[in-house]
Amino acid sequence: MYRAPLEELRFVLEELLETGRLAACPDLADYGDEVGASILEEAARLAENVLDPLNRSGDTEGAHWTPEGVTTPKGFKEAYAQYIAGGWQQLGTDPRFGGQRVPQSLSSAVQELWGASNLSFELCPMLTHGAVHALELCGSEAQQRLFLPKMASGEWTGTMVLTEPQAGSDLGQIRTRAVPEGDHYRLFGQKIFITWGEHDYTDNIIHMVLARIEGAPAGVKGISLFIVPKVLVNADGSLGERNEVRCVSIEHKLGIHASPTCVMQFGHDRGAAGYLVGKPNRGLEYMFVMMNTARLAVGVQSYAVGERAFQQAVEYARTRVQGKPPGSGDSDRLPIIHHPDVRRMLLTMKSSTEASRAVAFYAGQQLDLAAYHPDAAVRAAAQARGDLLIPIVKAWITETANEVAAIGVQVHGGMGFIEETGAAQYVRDVRITTIYEGTTGIQSNDLIGRKMGRDGGAAMGSLIADMRRELQALEPGADAPRATRDAAMQAVALLESATHTLISNMATVPERALAVAVPYLKLCGLVTGGWLLAKSAAIAAAGRGAASKDFYQAKIRTAHFYARQILPQTIGLAKVVEEGAASVLEAEPDGV
Ligand SMILES: Cc1cc2nc3c(=O)[nH]c(=O)nc-3n(C[C@H](O)[C@H](O)[C@H](O)COP(=O)(O)OP(=O)(O)OC[C@H]3O[C@@H](n4cnc5c(N)ncnc54)[C@H](O)[C@@H]3O)c2cc1C
Repeated sequence: MYRAPLEELRFVLEELLETGRLAACPDLADYGDEVGASILEEAARLAENVLDPLNRSGDTEGAHWTPEGVTTPKGFKEAYAQYIAGGWQQLGTDPRFGGQRVPQSLSSAVQELWGASNLSFELCPMLTHGAVHALELCGSEAQQRLFLPKMASGEWTGTMVLTEPQAGSDLGQIRTRAVPEGDHYRLFGQKIFITWGEHDYTDNIIHMVLARIEGAPAGVKGISLFIVPKVLVNADGSLGERNEVRCVSIEHKLGIHASPTCVMQFGHDRGAAGYLVGKPNRGLEYMFVMMNTARLAVGVQSYAVGERAFQQAVEYARTRVQGKPPGSGDSDRLPIIHHPDVRRMLLTMKSSTEASRAVAFYAGQQLDLAAYHPDAAVRAAAQARGDLLIPIVKAWITETANEVAAIGVQVHGGMGFIEETGAAQYVRDVRITTIYEGTTGIQSNDLIGRKMGRDGGAAMGSLIADMRRELQALEPGADAPRATRDAAMQAVALLESATHTLISNMATVPERALAVAVPYLKLCGLVTGGWLLAKSAAIAAAGRGAASKDFYQAKIRTAHFYARQILPQTIGLAKVVEEGAASVLEAEPDGV
């Protein structure tokens, strides 16, 4: 049974990040800690009482395809209706279209609750948000008027339609054609892997489709973005005839069984009517504009599953009696939570999840400052830092969450491998998060190529300087927070020297940098997590906020564990970045 970690969420938002200060930005003036706390409490009720009970049944039943459409598992349609009635889809959307503007950091906290309680369910609202965001940023006024209010409310859902069989990471290979016809286009092509491309929730689905206008340049410079509704929409907003868009099958897959992953056919006769968004050939650029929030959302959903896996592992460890731990004297056999190694596993899950959450919300806060702060210089600096952190959030957090979920199985022993306990579902569900929305390899290339390459490492240098300055200024109070702070400072120094090596390799032999891009990205994630947990420990040691004494003690100990058991991985990763590239480039993976 999942329980929303409200005290932890509030600690990160209110004490670690002080998100209440965002209310100084005029657009967020209505926001404050109290508003945030009450939104989280309400969301927790829906997550715990409605979405969580459907998580396991959704996994076993799965979504079903027939030529008429896709049926979602029992209870999902009703849960979606409740979600919409509660106004949850509007959270974080522009008030001009009926939304409720709240900081991204709070949206992420709410999204965590959906992702943890039911990842398959959460994907549909998440994709709709992505489509809404793309239209908010790039749609014409007429398109916004026609589509956004119903999408923002969730009355219609949205999809992001990029992938084709030959065009996965390499979107330059997209072949779906768009043929001009009057004021619109006709689209022809097949798309694969489209999340929630078809379902029985709503009477319309708005697909945001990447396609190539006939005669457009080859590669990424010839891709345009189109709105393709499942059912055509009349000028007055009413529904017209069915468009030529069909889900021809859904995938049988490792996890997220309740989330239909659709093969979509656009056009079989006249072509699917599509409406160009913005200018021709700028489609990929538009997609990138909303990519930051989508990638942040995938990072959040992954550690959310990790949180859930942790909660279940703790419950199991408290009740499974096996053996006598050393030092337990003449006592009977005890629950496995008393064994040092089980404690280590649980603390690895807990501390990694807390570090991930802190990094994700911190990145969200940078996006808030970039969007809403009145000072242009602050906005620019926050945008650069947010841009830098997004691939780290997407790739490091999802990779970490996969490890966390796998440890959850290990805590259960053999029962973890048996489906009935549910621990295996988390491993299966979270596995996709390192793949979609750009794989770990693609994120790492983005970090060192686009993000660090374009400014010569300036944004990374500024992050490192801020981490060091803040850690030096901490007043940890007691021994454990001090040791945590000192370990974080050592890790920052390792990151700094690895960054110098990486940047100099990028400039001279780029493939040497690319060969260690993933270890470097992981190093960045571990160090950023270590910094924020060291800050958390110092705040907890002062204990001035609203959290309980027990919470603060646990925070100090968890951060200390992270400093002693997780952060030392940075030594190995830094060594890989400094010395590991040649071994990759010289060896033959398919040789003997
Ligand atoms: C369940 C599910 C849901 C999805 N939902 C959607 C959706 O809603 N909309 C949508 O459009 N797509 C969706 N996708 C597609 C998803 O985004 C792609 O699968 C993903 O981008 C990877 O593309 P690919 O599968 O073709 O792998 P490939 O691109 O073939 O990659 C295979 C391997 O090669 C590596 N690789 C490839 N290129 C490089 C490179 N340049 N440098 C280093 N390594 C590289 C990758 O990291 C990976 O390890 C979904 C996929 C799944 C499985």
